[in-house]
Amino acid sequence: MEIKENIEKVRDRMAAACRRSGRSIDDVKLVAITKTVPPDRVQQAWEAGIRDFGENRVQEARGKIASLAGLPATWHLVGHLQTNKAKAALELFEWIHSIDSLRLAQRLERLARDEGKRLRVLLEVNLGGEPTKSGVSEAALTELVTQIAQLRTLDLCGLMTIPPFFASPEDVRPCFRRLRHLAAEINSRQLPNVRLTQLSMGMSHDFEVAIEEGATMVRIGTAIFGSRP
Ligand SMILES: *Cc1c(COP(=O)(O)O)cnc(C)c1O
Repeated sequence: MEIKENIEKVRDRMAAACRRSGRSIDDVKLVAITKTVPPDRVQQAWEAGIRDFGENRVQEARGKIASLAGLPATWHLVGHLQTNKAKAALELFEWIHSIDSLRLAQRLERLARDEGKRLRVLLEVNLGGEPTKSGVSEAALTELVTQIAQLRTLDLCGLMTIPPFFASPEDVRPCFRRLRHLAAEINSRQLPNVRLTQLSMGMSHDFEVAIEEGATMVRIGTAIFGSRP
């Protein structure tokens, strides 16, 4: 019951944020983040209507997705991906939110070509410039977008960010706004094959502000499944 109720509450809050900002709820995808969550609880979220799930580690996702075999869910990788796990990631995920280097993108492109697959990707932007976080810097973003847009088996769909932590969600607003402006600025250059339509931003703590600033995917764990061990 608890998971179902939590999902309903999150959906209500998403709808309210959409109303406040004049957006359609159909334009914001809820991705339930299931790291540390056992398969039976993922199943409960599925039964409550969730169709998109996110994991941050390939290793953990592998076992979980296998034990939920038969569930036609869409899986998203939202955590950092090492090049040596690219093959496994391609098998498990339809979306990768955390591309941050040309090397990783090229590896995925080759693997996808070999398998006759396509993969939807987002570039992770390190907006705070925090050295401990992955993601491409703002300064390097346009060049990386231009390069990755040429890789045939990857669909470059947009940008993702994990902003620095602030106690008040309102303080995160400038980061979310910045990500939207970066995507708009790049789109306005009309580079070949470049159309950034997706913004993956907002977590349990700050998803309403992210929606007000244009998020098209919110990544929510705690508010659905409770706090992690
Ligand atoms: C864990 C995680 C989330 C979800 O965080 P919550 O605060 O539990 O909603 C979102 N995005 C990424 C990249 C994560 O690793």
